[in-house]
Amino acid sequence: MRFLILLVGIVIIYLLLKKYFRNLQGPAPTAKPPIAENMVRCAHCGVNVPQTEAIFSRGEYFCGDEHRQLHQP
Ligand SMILES: [Zn+2]
Repeated sequence: MRFLILLVGIVIIYLLLKKYFRNLQGPAPTAKPPIAENMVRCAHCGVNVPQTEAIFSRGEYFCGDEHRQLHQP
């Protein structure tokens, strides 16, 4: 019976130490910050849009196909 109490004590100490060391390491690393995407300016309305979402036409970027058509009839 004494052995069992000792074992429980060891487990408790182990868990406390584990918790303590986890706290030392600080909070778990969060998700990586989003990679700064290259922003481009819509030639029609001037809004900044990510280059991957922008429409490129005749050397100019647009926020959408509608603005491309309005700007370049
Ligand atoms: Zn626009």
